[in-house]
Amino acid sequence: MGIAEAITKLHNELPSDVKLVAVSKFHPAGSVIEAYRAGQRVFGESRPQELYAKVCELDMYSDIEWHFIGHLQTNKLKLVLPYVFMVESVDSIRLLESIDRWGGDNNKVTDVLLEYHVASEDTKQGFDAEQILEILLSDKKYPYIRFRGLMGMATYTDDEEVIRADFSRIRTLGDELKDLMRTRQDHEPYPNLTPCFDTLSFGMTHDYRIAVEMGADIVRIGTLIFGEREY
Ligand SMILES: *Cc1c(COP(=O)(O)O)cnc(C)c1O
Repeated sequence: MGIAEAITKLHNELPSDVKLVAVSKFHPAGSVIEAYRAGQRVFGESRPQELYAKVCELDMYSDIEWHFIGHLQTNKLKLVLPYVFMVESVDSIRLLESIDRWGGDNNKVTDVLLEYHVASEDTKQGFDAEQILEILLSDKKYPYIRFRGLMGMATYTDDEEVIRADFSRIRTLGDELKDLMRTRQDHEPYPNLTPCFDTLSFGMTHDYRIAVEMGADIVRIGTLIFGEREY
């Protein structure tokens, strides 16, 4: 299956309220253009240098919406933050503080998702539920960050029950936090931001169908669209 065909198929298959992030990491800008011509506008990258190179090369495709989905080092912010619609992969307080400081210096509010660690592998990054709650309850410490939701990855397995259990934790915490943030907003309106904690990002090539079934707002799909990556 070619890139255009995969995009068309996914656009037909996914419910209209689920956003598809086409994960183009390790694939050339030409592949992004192929997907763009098939109607795709939202792309995900996981390495700062690679994102920046693609942003420059694809400059004329000005309606592309870039999502950063990888580990972001605090010394790479300027390659990423000016160009992205959102950072989906905030995985430490230190990063949060750096993004906020950068936002103050550059007068830009950044939309972020907090990465929620639900998989059984230790290799995956992210916060636990308690840390996420703590961050959100102190959200006013970060005036240049707009907390939009959670991002997560299921355990890498073929066992659907395990995947469902991981996704279910994201969904459950996400729903609780959506309520919490809505109530907070009613009681203490923000000075200058509209909080909208409304986005749960989970589901990749091998588990996106389960993710959609379980209420993901964003799915991030690479391999199915662009083929295997060569690292
Ligand atoms: C690479 C990556 C994806 C896409 O994975 P595929 O299995 O190729 O669909 C999704 N999310 C994150 C965070 C990634 O790093």
